[in-house]
Amino acid sequence: MSGRHEKEKGVNVQVLLRCRPFSDDELRSNAPQVITCNEYQREVAVSQSIAGKHIDRVFTFDKVFGPNAQQRDLYDQAVIPIVNEVLEGFNCTIFAYGQTGTGKTYTMEGECKKAKSGPNGELPPGAGVIPRAVQQIFDTLEGQCAEYSVKVTFLELYNEEITDLLAPEELSRVSVEEKQKKQLPLMEDGKGGVLVRGLEEEIVTSASEIFTLLERGSAKRRTAETLLNKQSSRSHSLFSITIHIKEATPEGEELIKCGKLNLVDLAGSENISRSGAREGRAREAGEINKSLLTLGRVINALVEHLGHIPYRDSKLTRLLRDSLGGRTKTCIIATVSPAVHCLEETLSTLDYAHRAK
Ligand code: ADP
Ligand code: MG
Repeated sequence: MSGRHEKEKGVNVQVLLRCRPFSDDELRSNAPQVITCNEYQREVAVSQSIAGKHIDRVFTFDKVFGPNAQQRDLYDQAVIPIVNEVLEGFNCTIFAYGQTGTGKTYTMEGECKKAKSGPNGELPPGAGVIPRAVQQIFDTLEGQCAEYSVKVTFLELYNEEITDLLAPEELSRVSVEEKQKKQLPLMEDGKGGVLVRGLEEEIVTSASEIFTLLERGSAKRRTAETLLNKQSSRSHSLFSITIHIKEATPEGEELIKCGKLNLVDLAGSENISRSGAREGRAREAGEINKSLLTLGRVINALVEHLGHIPYRDSKLTRLLRDSLGGRTKTCIIATVSPAVHCLEETLSTLDYAHRAK
């Protein structure tokens, strides 16, 4: 694709690849490794021979993180510049894309349930992008004397329907039928953007508060059991952080800078036939793919400088419209497993991610 060439003209879409380590089960079953990461060359090699058929492919990305890469490595190398941009008053988006079980939620949220932040407020090593971004934001803002506010929202998109992951507990104990009614409408705000009516906005005053919010939100995330993975997540989640900073110009005028960071944990990219999804699930999978496919088309249209960007074709892209394209930075973190039994999905993830460049 001509993506790389176009990107040099200034389209800010960065595509990273992260390969998780083998799980205990995979280690026990001696699963052969089919993925090799070369972080220095920014390359991922796929190599496998079955029954005389040989697969040998190499993919290049903007950055590659192998199985030994720590949460902090990924954050420091890929996310810090994006958060700096948000603090300057721009809107940016980071996506985690990949098959269920490859580390999307680990990358975005990380292991923050078990370990809260340490005595000096430092984050546990397993903390993912969301808590680290919030920490960086507060560290920066607290070092300035300007007035500021930080607000977060956390929503789930499932079957093209929006639910609030931060809505008070009482509301989440209602029956499935009532839950259906709790879907929040997406409306035009009359200023070219959209708003989700009734969505809770939490004001956050310190990074440690984010763990409580994440726990509350993640517990509410809907999961459905499929043959592929018991915890297979068929929903997208969107965690947004909005920052307002009040600054005085040298002339003594007041200036409000507003930046937004969207952190998106996409639904598992596995195809429905393989996960054994049927009937109700088929519709669900179709709708999930609608947002995933539209996202791919939107990013492609931005990278290729096409005139028409199909934001309107899915709720996810409508929600993110003000944060994709123009003066924004977009980062896609594609996650894969090193194991042979995931090979087919790994190849389709690599292809999808590579096309976004
Ligand atoms: P997904 O959200 O893509 O379905 P998860 O984030 O739930 O996948 O990851 C699946 C499992 O693999 C979890 O137990 C998680 O802790 C583990 N895992 C994923 N990525 C890593 C990693 N880079 N390092 C260590 N463990 C990981
Ligand atoms: Mg997940």
